[in-house]
Formats: sequence, structure tokens, C-alpha cells
Amino acid sequence: PGPSDPPYLQGLNGPQRQAVLTTEGPVLMLAGAGTGKTAALTARLAHIMATRRAWPSEILAVTFTNKAAREMRERIGRMVGDVVEGMPWLGTFHSICAKMLRRHAELVGLQSNFTILDTDDQLRVLKQLIQAEGLDEKRWPARQLAGLIDKWKNRGLVPADLDAGDKEAYADGKGQHFYALYQARLKTLNACDFGDLLLHMLVILKNHRDVLEQYQERFKYILVDEYQDTNASQYLWLRLLAQQRKNICCVGDDDQSIYSWRGAEVANILRFEKDFPGATVIRLEQNYRSTPQILAAASALIAQNSGRLGKTLWTDLEPGDKLRVVGVWDGPEEARRVGEELESLQRQRISLDRAAILVRAQFQTREFEDRFISIGMPYRIVGGFRFYERAEIRDALAYLRLVQSAADDLAFERIVNTPKRGLGDKALQRIHQYARHEQASLLHAAARLIETDELTPQARRQLANFVAQVRGWQSKASQLSHPELTQLILDESGYTAMLQADRSVEAAGRLENLSELVRAMEEYETLEEFLEHVSLVMDRDQNDTTETVTIMTIHAAKGLEFDHVFLAGWEDGVFPSQRSMDEVGGLEEERRLAYVAITRARQRATIYHAANRRIYGQWMSSIPSRFIGEIPPEHVDSENSFGGGASMWRANWSAQGDPFAHVAERNATRTATRGPAWQRAAVKSTTVTRAPAPTEGGRAASVGAKARADLAIG
Ligand code: ATP
Ligand code: MG
Repeated sequence: PGPSDPPYLQGLNGPQRQAVLTTEGPVLMLAGAGTGKTAALTARLAHIMATRRAWPSEILAVTFTNKAAREMRERIGRMVGDVVEGMPWLGTFHSICAKMLRRHAELVGLQSNFTILDTDDQLRVLKQLIQAEGLDEKRWPARQLAGLIDKWKNRGLVPADLDAGDKEAYADGKGQHFYALYQARLKTLNACDFGDLLLHMLVILKNHRDVLEQYQERFKYILVDEYQDTNASQYLWLRLLAQQRKNICCVGDDDQSIYSWRGAEVANILRFEKDFPGATVIRLEQNYRSTPQILAAASALIAQNSGRLGKTLWTDLEPGDKLRVVGVWDGPEEARRVGEELESLQRQRISLDRAAILVRAQFQTREFEDRFISIGMPYRIVGGFRFYERAEIRDALAYLRLVQSAADDLAFERIVNTPKRGLGDKALQRIHQYARHEQASLLHAAARLIETDELTPQARRQLANFVAQVRGWQSKASQLSHPELTQLILDESGYTAMLQADRSVEAAGRLENLSELVRAMEEYETLEEFLEHVSLVMDRDQNDTTETVTIMTIHAAKGLEFDHVFLAGWEDGVFPSQRSMDEVGGLEEERRLAYVAITRARQRATIYHAANRRIYGQWMSSIPSRFIGEIPPEHVDSENSFGGGASMWRANWSAQGDPFAHVAERNATRTATRGPAWQRAAVKSTTVTRAPAPTEGGRAASVGAKARADLAIG
């Protein structure tokens, strides 16, 4: 290091400089969280550009999110802005492939102006195919097929590549058939889905030597961040492009591989050294992000995983605060506590931009959103919709609005055919015409139309059924509490069944959101009051100019850092998710997720766990996440916010015939020897000092194993 260093090299440590300066040949940078991998990769890019080793258009740089690409572009601009003109091919796999595919679309039977389908479009196409083939979509949901097709695409497989074993998974072996039909259909639509962007490019590079050589020639340098989360087809694509010049630099951390459910393969790290023999492997060990306390806690946690490549991390920052573990009574208290912490930051004139709330599953954001709205705390949701904007929530609200006001035509339109009731465009058009003519509401028009013979018998029957249902709900509205009414509507309308039939991860998340909606309603006296609340929430625009706290899933937080991190819902069954506890390797992936979560924090990390969660309208007593027990007590400050101390909530589970008693016991034995003092004390206690508050209607305060099992990955 010297004073004559160009700006992009200044401040980098030895191994980082090596990663920047070793421009020729394959380089693998393998290092833990916060060690400056992304920083070094960015400097490497700047170096290549500033020394004119390549024109920007000859460099390919891949990031995991669009946001990361934007940030890298800004940093590069600052580093070499006035030296070099133009920008490299910098973006996610998808965005880069989309750009390439536009140039070569005709090679896979598309036109260059092809459209990229979103998930909804994709499902619509699949549903049509399923129906056209005379299959029962209830039994063989389109989402399941979509998941399967995505999986094949992630592995770089076209229909012809599938072998017998792959075919079984859908409709008695028809998966491959549908995959082929789907691809053909997309071609006639001049469209492709997300997975195709990569798959098509892969096929083109494999089958057209000239195109491959053109890109191999063009890309003098290839850089890849978050390499541990690449899937097989991304890997194959990279390998093809890099094979000629071999100037490829991949950066990753096996402990942060958290997308295996989307086909990511950590094994790609091991494959790298095989495919690119003689690769320079660079390890970074100094962490610049987190205080020693945070780092030690995270390192001890991840050390519980087996099969790691293993690494050392150190930091020379001041020790800092211990990790705080806060036990709260329930979800609302969790949100209240975090709100108070944020207000305290505001009082200290610390920008809210420096704080983030990280959740395991999407449904967890609701409690925070409602709280923050009521106290006027600016927030934004990153990497997802705000709670009340999610499709399933809007659908449920539309049902309620229609029940509340028969004249709500927008609500009618939204749900008359959701779930599918076999009402075609013709029938819907007729309802509209009729309504206009009669100057009546759509619901009213529908009720009149079913008394005529203007509709097909099938449409008439379906519509009659729907109208009768809505009337039934209207009449029950006065007898039932509004959460009960909502649950009834979701069940009777077939909405719940539609999602249950669908075994995808997304559907499980949607079900969670709906039960969270029912739970949220319990806090309001009347349906009107609740709907009023929602419209106020929706009205509030997301103003990006003010300082806001960020709420996001841990998955979305990868690669980011915040001074203050609040980790919500660390309870077994929420985090680790119930699903992961039942899956092989699931727990290890959850632990990596926990590692990612803690290592986002620079100065302070606070973990919350609630003694009670209300899920599907039922109180369930929770036990703290096993991950809390895996953090050595010397790095933890524990506190419980409610009276009675640890023993009280600890005792809850043991006294109620909790179906998770076995989990609790296992945790108890472990924490008895390893856990912090308050946990050890708690294990001995068996008396319940306070049962969870009963829900209205006196429903039993028991834990539903089924409900638990439905908690899914977010
Ligand atoms: P993750 O694994 O979470 O993606 P990372 O290894 O990519 O982390 P960076 O985000 O690049 O780490 O860096 C973490 C923090 O350390 C950033 O704030 C960065 O600016 C800072 N940093 C990186 N290198 C140095 C250095 N040599 N000196 C001082 N600070 C550094
Ligand atoms: Mg990074």
C-alpha cells in the first residue's frame, strides 16, 4: 500500500488487493460475511476499467439482485467516473440474459420483442394447457407444474433432456409432456418466463458455436458476486462463457447459501476448482462490518453446521454491545418494543435508514406495519409487497367489501371468478351490459341474470351459487364476529381450498398471510373499522425521500448491512420454520439463514422471541428458537419484558400437552447445559403462572400441530 495508489485500491488489505490485482486467470474468493468480498470485487472491476485492460462492454459482472447491481454501478462511477466512459454488462443473471436473448431470439424461435411473463401469466398459460388436456386442475394444480418446470429450468434441462425419474412427479408422469406443451405455447405467444431467459441462452450457447465464440471473445473479464447461490444452469452458462479466456472471478461464502429451495447448489464452489484448475483461491479473514460480539455470536452459531468449508474471522473493531435477546409476551408486544427502539434512535438523531427489521416469513411484516402506521413510524418493505397489497389479502378484502356493500363493483369484479368458477368472458360481459342498462350494481345484475336464460346453463349455475353465497354471508354478518365471518368466507368460497391444493412454497405463504389477516381483524371492533383502517394504510404512499426503517425477509437482506438490526420471531416453528425442521438438510439451511441475519448488523443486533403467537386465530405458546440456545451465553444479554420472568413462559409449553414437547425437551436439555442463565433456571420450572389469554369465544388455547406445520418459508 502506498500513497500513490489509485483511489480504488486505497484502504484494501493484502488479500483484497490480491483479488483486485490478479486479473488474469480464474480466481475464487471465499470468505465469511462482512469481509469485504463485494468491496474487493467492485474494486477489481474499477481496476480493470481504469487500467484499460478491457472496454466496459467487454466486462461481465453478475450480482444477485438489481439493487446490488445499482449500488455497484454507483460505486464504480465514483471510482473511475471521469476516467472511463460506458458501463460493463452489470446486472443479475436474468437481466443480462434478457439483454443477450433479445439479440439472438430467433435462434430459439422467438422474436426480439418477446415478452417476459410474470408468475401470474405463467400460471394462466399452464392452467389453460391443463384444462385443454382434460386434467382436473384441482387435483393437479398449475402451481405444482410451474414449480416442477422451474426446477428443470434451474437445472438447465429442456424437455428432451428429462429421464424417466423426472417424469413421475406430476399427473402420473405427464410432467415432461406438459413441459414440452408449455414451451411450445410460449413460443406461439412470443413469450418466455424467467427461467427461460437463462435456459434459452444456455441452449443457444451450446448449439451455436459462432454465438458462443462471439461472447467468449467479447467478455475478457467475468465477475460474479454471491456465487454460493448460483444454480446449475447459471453455473453452466458461466462456465461456457469463461472457458476460453478463463478470467473469471467468483466471490462467495458457503455459509451464506440460502437459496437451495430455488435450485442453488453450494457444490458449485467445489466444482469451480475442478473446472478451472490452478485457480487462485483467496481467503479474506478480517471482518470490517460487525463488532466482535456480533461476529462471535454468528460464528458460534454457524459452527454447529456440518460439512462447512470452514473459515476464520476476526475484527479489530471495539468489542461493542452483546447480542440482545429479548423475550416478549406476544407479537403485538414485539412490534411495540421494536417501535420504541426506533423512536429512541430517532431521539438520538440516528437515521432510520441505518436500521432494519428482518423477518423469516412475509406474514411477519403485518404486525410491524400496523404498529408503525399507528405511531407514524416511516417504514418500507423491501423485496415484497406491503401486507395489505398482497394479492390474496386484496382478494379477501374484496370479498368482505362485497358483503359489506353490494354496490362495490370493483370488489365484485375482482373475486367473481377467484377462485375459478368457470365464468367466461362472455358471461362477465353480459353482467356488465345488464348492470349498465339497469343502472344497477354488478351483484344486482348477476342476481337478475340468473333468473333469465341469457347465460349458458353452466355459467348460470355457477353464478347462482356465487350470488347465494354472498347473500348467505351478508345475512351471517350480523351473527358472526368479523374474523369468524372472514374465515367462513375464505372457506366457503373455496379460496382456502384453492391454496391448500397448491403445494408450492408461495401458496403456503399466502395461507399464512390470510390467517394473519384474520388475526389482524381481531384487533378491531367492527368490520367497518377494520376496512377503514386498511384504506388508510393503503393510502399512505411510500415516500422514499424521508428516512425510513426497512422491513424485509432475511433472504432479501443478503449482502446488505445496517447499524441496527432487529431480528423478529425467533421461535421454533417460525424460525427455524416448521417445514425446515421436517426436511433433510432443512435445519442447516435455516442456520445459514440465521447466520446471514446476524451478520447484517454492524453495531447492534437484537433478537426477539414471543412467548405466545396467535396463529389461525389460536393462541400457541412458543419456545425460543433453538438457534438462540446455540449462541454462547457470554455473547448474549437476555431480558424478558413481561412480569414473572423466564420461568413463566418457559413453563407454558410443558404444561399444556404441547405437541412440540419433544422439541421443547430437546431444547431444554441443551439449554440446560449451554444456554444463558435465565434459560437454565427456566428449565426446572413446571408451573404455569399465567396461561395465554384465551381468544374470544373461549376457544381452547392449544397448539395446533397442523397450524404449525403450515408455517412456511418466506
Ligand atoms: P457479505 O458476505 O455480507 O456479502 P462482504 O464480504 O461482501 O459481505 P462487504 O459488503 O464488501 O462484505 O464489506 C463489508 C463492510 O466492510 C462494508 O461496509 C465495506 O465498506 C467495509 N470494508 C470492506 N473492505 C474494507 C477495508 N479494507 N477497510 C475498511 N472497510 C472495509
Ligand atoms: Mg457481499
